[in-house]
Amino acid sequence: MSRRVAALGLLVPLIFQRATVAQTPIDSSLYAYIQSIRAIDNHAHPVSMAPLDSDYDALPLDGIPAFDFPIRLRADNPELLTAWRELFGYPYTDRTEPHLAELRRLKARARADQGERYPAWILDKLGIDVQLANRMALGPGITAPRFRWVSFVDALILPLATKALQTTPDRADLYPRETRHLRRYLRALGLSTLPNTFAAYLSTVVTPTLERMQREGAVAIKFEAAYLRPLSFDPASLAQARAVYERNIGGRGPTMAVYKPLQDFLFRYVAREAGRIGLAVHVHSADGAGGYFEAAGSNPILLESAFNDPALRQAKFVIVHGGWPHPRNTISLFGKPNVYADFSFLGNLLTAHMLAEVLREWLSTYPERVLFGSDAYKDSEEVGWEEWGWMGATVGRKALAIALTGMMRDGEIDRDRAQEIARMALRDNAAKLYGIP
Ligand SMILES: [Zn+2]
Repeated sequence: MSRRVAALGLLVPLIFQRATVAQTPIDSSLYAYIQSIRAIDNHAHPVSMAPLDSDYDALPLDGIPAFDFPIRLRADNPELLTAWRELFGYPYTDRTEPHLAELRRLKARARADQGERYPAWILDKLGIDVQLANRMALGPGITAPRFRWVSFVDALILPLATKALQTTPDRADLYPRETRHLRRYLRALGLSTLPNTFAAYLSTVVTPTLERMQREGAVAIKFEAAYLRPLSFDPASLAQARAVYERNIGGRGPTMAVYKPLQDFLFRYVAREAGRIGLAVHVHSADGAGGYFEAAGSNPILLESAFNDPALRQAKFVIVHGGWPHPRNTISLFGKPNVYADFSFLGNLLTAHMLAEVLREWLSTYPERVLFGSDAYKDSEEVGWEEWGWMGATVGRKALAIALTGMMRDGEIDRDRAQEIARMALRDNAAKLYGIP
């Protein structure tokens, strides 16, 4: 090694250290405080201990054509190595196949050791007290008080055949799943067919299904509609919806232009009923996944007409995934008294610095409407809801610390208020919204 190279070798770490310090503007005691808060996770898909559990999503993406994930969501994201180490004691800094085989053994052992306590044991490691479980049904190990149910309701706004709506390879896979879910919901009511009249559909299927979900512990319902159609749920009259339903029920299914007023009416009907029985209404609003996903249709501003419906002011809406990449539209929508947003999935998709910029704008405008979420989700045996939960919780807390440190150092808030806002975002806002003690 020449002397010059050796000298450079000494210099580089010093420069690197200084750059690292400059690039991490986090108040360490505020960060420690944020890490001590036992969070309420507004949105996740925990996997139950049932063998081959498939209830953790209504619209899983394993049947749609392959597409490119943004780099942080890929299985080779190096941060996942830290997740494996912290969660399961993974001793390696690479991901060779023999090492991944050992990871699978470590995970299997943790599951065997913990039994049905395993999902709650994962929550303990993530600093999450209560996680809202977005699932078709709760399941073994996914039970109150640590888990609260968020049920799927898109099937309820799709009572007619959907053949004409399957306009992309993605939708050709996703729509038939909703048809199967509606049959499952009918079976849960002891029904085998849909009624011929719209009035009977509302009173013997839609309302009783929502009431069943609430009885079985749901605190919210969830629309994944943005995977299927735009979020523009426009006003539609009962007479209009009734005509579409009664003319087409049991038939081959209308075009979207004909079907839309029925779906729009049902969205608002479901939201109104949810408000009446105390269920919050979650709406997926973000670039979803899939090579054919319709980004223009998932902009949260498309929900404004529904949010402005005076009949829906009792319903509490949550913009799930914050409306990304339109978080400023979300700020506009916070102007309605019944609109909230979570930052689930954004801790997985974005770097902490990118997420911090979103949070700083939200927390500087409507801090009482912001909810933490992880979007813990199973991709594979190695990268499951545990790892994505770790990522969402770790990056989410770091982003919160960066945003609040910035607000504190710029003199916008003092330390007490920074701590209070951190508690609101991580826990108190959700506790109030869902009545969780
Ligand atoms: Zn999700």
